[in-house]
Amino acid sequence: MALTPRERWKQAQSVIPGGVNSPVRAMRAVGLDEPLFIDSGQGAYFTTADGERYLDWVQSWGPLIFGHADPEVVAAVQAAAAKGTTFGAATQLEVDLAAELVDAVPSLEKVRLVSSGTEAAMSAVRLARGATRRDRIIKFAGNYHGHADALLVSAGSGLATLGIPSSPGVPSGAAADTIVVPYNDITAVAEAVARYGEGLAAILVEPVAGNMGVVPPEPGFLDALRKLCTASGALLVFDEVITGFRVARGGAQERFGVTPDLTILGKIVGGGLPLAAFGGRAELMDQLAPAGAIYQAGTLSGNPLATAAGLTVVRRLRDPGVYAELERKGARLEAGLREATAGHEISLTRVGAMSTLFFNPGPVRNWTEVATSDTERYAALFRHLLSRGIYIAPSQFEATMLSTAHSDADIDRTVEAVAEFLGD
Ligand SMILES: *Cc1c(COP(=O)(O)O)cnc(C)c1O
Repeated sequence: MALTPRERWKQAQSVIPGGVNSPVRAMRAVGLDEPLFIDSGQGAYFTTADGERYLDWVQSWGPLIFGHADPEVVAAVQAAAAKGTTFGAATQLEVDLAAELVDAVPSLEKVRLVSSGTEAAMSAVRLARGATRRDRIIKFAGNYHGHADALLVSAGSGLATLGIPSSPGVPSGAAADTIVVPYNDITAVAEAVARYGEGLAAILVEPVAGNMGVVPPEPGFLDALRKLCTASGALLVFDEVITGFRVARGGAQERFGVTPDLTILGKIVGGGLPLAAFGGRAELMDQLAPAGAIYQAGTLSGNPLATAAGLTVVRRLRDPGVYAELERKGARLEAGLREATAGHEISLTRVGAMSTLFFNPGPVRNWTEVATSDTERYAALFRHLLSRGIYIAPSQFEATMLSTAHSDADIDRTVEAVAEFLGD
């Protein structure tokens, strides 16, 4: 017998902490009584366990660049599954996917496959520390690199400060080597490098911030990071888990023409299955075991289902027509929203196929500015759109993820629903 939404949510909460396997899924920030439970997806749409169909602007937070249940991905995963789901030994598919990533992303000479963005970021930090024989890292307030201890850190007070744990369970020792500075503030980074440069292993950055809502890099920001790293001997690490294969085939490093030492990939590269990667120059990557001494491993790393899905997707992203289409549709959404939101205290940001509507008069250049957004108003917009069959991110501080499956009609309908909300 089918459960009511209330019963289902009650059962979920009784056996899963908070009822969900990742906090944002509880949809608390937008004030829902029960979060959506999804049953199936097709293209730009998903259907809930209660049979309601929604236009989906989240797309699993980014992996689904071709939309849900893409037929080629489904066929590739089915074929791979029939041949065995995991071996814990080398397969040709892993080599093929690695070769595809190396071909696409400018900074990659070698790449290692892992199972989540968190794991990739954690491993990249270990590699950076091992290769430089230094411990400190710099990260930016409002950037997210998964939940490894050293990266789950908030800023103290002041411009460039040693980090403090942002969650219970993160030892102060793990946070103390992480310096947190404001995004887009090159003066603060330069000050931190001047103070801690000798012991600095890496600067980690989302080259387009996506985890505080979309905040593009200011002109010259990424370039300045590159120069500060080169001068201090720290490694520049681009976390392209969202931007990789989204803002260009070669990610933000291709789009902005700045080459990092190490790159973290995830989301799109797994084609909707659990797969992520980190890579860089051969001389750095060859310091990983078994070629080198820095340890890193995984039972399900390079899993056959995930590599089959990822390969299907990234091969199709060789076609520049896909990025032309995403840019055209992204521009259509942006233009529509600019018209609909004119005269309101709203800032729109977009880089290619990622964008955010902030209830904020702007500017929105860093976490301090973004954090002043009217989250109540955002929650009201979320609920209004949901009532019109449109699902946007259940938090102000997330990105809208365009896919090729979103049609012009989907875009126009979304713009109209936003205009309707603002007209109330
Ligand atoms: C999603 C994300 C991660 C974490 O990836 P998971 O697969 O959720 O562990 C890391 N960095 C960025 C920029 C992300 O958007």
